[in-house]
Amino acid sequence: MTVFDLTGRRALVTGGAQGLGEGMARALASAGASVVVADIQDSGERVAADLPTDDGGRKHAFTRLDVTSEADWERAVTETIAAVGGLDILVNNAGIEITGLITEVSPDDIRRMLEVNVLGTTLGLKHGLRAMRPGGAAGDGGSIVNVASVAATIAFPGISVYSATKSAVDRLTRVAAMESGKLGYGVRINCVYPGLVPTAMGAGLANDMATIGLFGSPDEAVAAVVDQTPSGRLGTVEDIADAVVFLASDAARFVTGAGLPVDGGMGM
Ligand code: NAD
Repeated sequence: MTVFDLTGRRALVTGGAQGLGEGMARALASAGASVVVADIQDSGERVAADLPTDDGGRKHAFTRLDVTSEADWERAVTETIAAVGGLDILVNNAGIEITGLITEVSPDDIRRMLEVNVLGTTLGLKHGLRAMRPGGAAGDGGSIVNVASVAATIAFPGISVYSATKSAVDRLTRVAAMESGKLGYGVRINCVYPGLVPTAMGAGLANDMATIGLFGSPDEAVAAVVDQTPSGRLGTVEDIADAVVFLASDAARFVTGAGLPVDGGMGM
């Protein structure tokens, strides 16, 4: 057993039905955790059913969760604790990105990004902390990992509001970590700043950048990102998921209120 081992831990991953969240659910399960996949898409049930398990009766589960709904959070946390016996790790991964020049952005799109990325992450922190702190329904402390973005650390055209919401996730992380520490909750709270990964969101972003005329083609948009990245490539789902496992594990036991770039150096 190493300090990265998550045997016996119980994790909830939002936006776990596809993309980075699916990879995080898989990586946490591979490290030994019981995982509850939470998403607005019922396909998360299949993701949970396919997660690696072992002979020890370790369970995984799916719960339907719209991160913008407080009632959904209350039910999802209760269902998680009932399904896997507790809650030690919460990954606030669900997020949306709507590309647009700042001169063209619509109030509806601004509200949608604020709702999912800021309100959703805040409600996750609220209900995760309430459950994990002493006296909570789980009550054993733990680790919360928020998913921000390299967009919170650099300026890239076409994603102004998305970048603002991810900067908010970054600040939320710091203040929540401060409150958790000062109030003795026993919960470490950190965030990651992923670089571009060609998930549905990442590939869509490259397409949209071309559509709004910032680049000649999606390939040119990707090439611009790679050119700005010292590691010389895009990220993979596993690159991001392994960093989340690290922050969730005892290997990061003295790490809280931190933001970890997982971007091949793009944001340095
Ligand atoms: P994705 O679009 O492939 O998957 C997002 C998942 O979130 C989907 O399963 C979706 O159903 C779910 N979701 C959306 N709204 C939700 C809601 N209201 N409640 C619950 N679930 C909801 O995106 P991804 O690339 O996997 O991104 C995951 C996270 O990583 C997001 O927060 C995103 O901003 C961040 N991120 C992605 C990249 C990238 O390049 N892909 C880079 C940096 C940060």
